Amino acid sequence: MNIKHIKQPFLKKFPGDFSNNPMQRNTPKVLFATIKPAGFEKPRLIAFNEDLSEKIGLGKFEEKDLNFLVGSLLPENIQTYATAYAGHQFGNWAGQLGDGRAILAGEITDANGKKTEIQWKGAGATPYSRHADGRAVLRSSVREYLMSEAMYHLGIPTTRALSLAFTGEDVIRDMMYNGNPQYEQGAVVIRTAESFLRFGHFELLYAQEEYKLLQDLVDFTIENYFPEIVSSGHQRYKDFFENVCTRTADLIVEWCRVGFVHGVMNTDNMSILGLTIDYGPYSMMDEYNLSFTPNTTDLPGRRYAFGKQGQISHWNLWKLASALQPIIKDEKFLENTLKNFGVYFWDAHDKMLCKKFGLDGLKKEDEEFFGTWQVLMQELQLDHTLFFNQLEKITADTDIKEHFSPVAYTVLNEEKLRILQDFIVKYQSRLHLNSISKEDSLELMSKTNPKFILRNYLLYECIEEIGKGKTELLTKLTQALENPYKELFPEYSVKRPSSYDNTAGCSTLSCSS
Ligand code: AMP
Ligand code: MG
Repeated sequence: MNIKHIKQPFLKKFPGDFSNNPMQRNTPKVLFATIKPAGFEKPRLIAFNEDLSEKIGLGKFEEKDLNFLVGSLLPENIQTYATAYAGHQFGNWAGQLGDGRAILAGEITDANGKKTEIQWKGAGATPYSRHADGRAVLRSSVREYLMSEAMYHLGIPTTRALSLAFTGEDVIRDMMYNGNPQYEQGAVVIRTAESFLRFGHFELLYAQEEYKLLQDLVDFTIENYFPEIVSSGHQRYKDFFENVCTRTADLIVEWCRVGFVHGVMNTDNMSILGLTIDYGPYSMMDEYNLSFTPNTTDLPGRRYAFGKQGQISHWNLWKLASALQPIIKDEKFLENTLKNFGVYFWDAHDKMLCKKFGLDGLKKEDEEFFGTWQVLMQELQLDHTLFFNQLEKITADTDIKEHFSPVAYTVLNEEKLRILQDFIVKYQSRLHLNSISKEDSLELMSKTNPKFILRNYLLYECIEEIGKGKTELLTKLTQALENPYKELFPEYSVKRPSSYDNTAGCSTLSCSS
């Protein structure tokens, strides 16, 4: 791999703490602190993403690169670093947080000049580790590695994953926070993104009243990551905020399209570029349920439930707006932009639903139709993904009960069947209003509705296997997630087996990772 081509523009541009001091502390007035990864002596490779490596300009993997993958071998010319950010967690201001177990190597440039940041996750403690160990366990690393790639192949903006390796070191975790700590195998993921900047980076500078630095960071972000912004002067900052709102709304609509629930939408986990970032206690939704949250910490208030993700991203944008106010200096503008967010979001959301149903455009009556559909999905506990796959396959002589029973998590009794039949009749009459052909409508559906989603139980099985030294399922799941709109493995396009209904690490997940 061409690791010696890694450059560090962020580190050169902004003030940092260059002490390399690992002591956990607040670092006011700087955006990062240099820190070395812990160094692991016996790493073992689990997976390497060759396509991504070539694509971003890192080239081919050779045996000697293994130490780089866990942060034990560093290119001579770089100083590795962790960035400082803050955030609102579960609705409360949490102050300084920062990269507690992410360490940045820098940036690599591909043949076309496109730049990609590279960071290790789980490679050791940083000044921002807040009494934790800076390590990551196998289960959370597999989950990050596979899901970020699954999202990429679904066509959803996301950070990506380059490699997954055992550190050779065990770490202790209390997975369910129930006083039962266990040793687990440690692992490191290298992840990549155009930038890992979060809302929280801007919030931190605002909280410290570092307005000049805040402006510099906004300028840097626009210049490097928002080529669509061509205005100048004050308007540039307004356009920036509007763009972040649009990218965020578009992202959440995409999550809704495939049934992704992030699980910890704190402002420190919100990418300023509108990427999916920080794969923790997330889940793809099996049975449709607006109040589904996979995160055990979130169960009391269900703040981050599937159906609330739009609303929460709006709340997070309010916090970002407050942080940017000293630069934008126009409260009325910020208020209006935030007001428009709701309108924009729901319009984009309904247009997305139209595509899922194979409808060529949004009509006024559709709002009611979608409302009826939501009730149907919840009442009949239908699988979000499989429902649309089955809808595509309906013909004049389909037996509705037989057709939909395998994708429902409850028995379709007479009453439920009647609700479903009524809905299908409504749907068919809506299809008659389409101005596109039946073939085009079906094509739209098959491009919008994945046939394969990376369900939690599959991840759970895969983690168990890797823990025992086997990688067959990992290979198969990788192939499946690279082709989510095809049905490569019919055995994975079925609903969650009931044996997994109450399995910890499968039906519910903790933040422990
Ligand atoms: P999150 O769960 O992503 O919202 O994390 C909140 C904060 O905790 C971030 O600053 C993380 O970097 C940090 N953090 C989470 N796990 C660890 C760990 N094992 N060691 C150090 N910091 C951690
Ligand atoms: Mg985080």
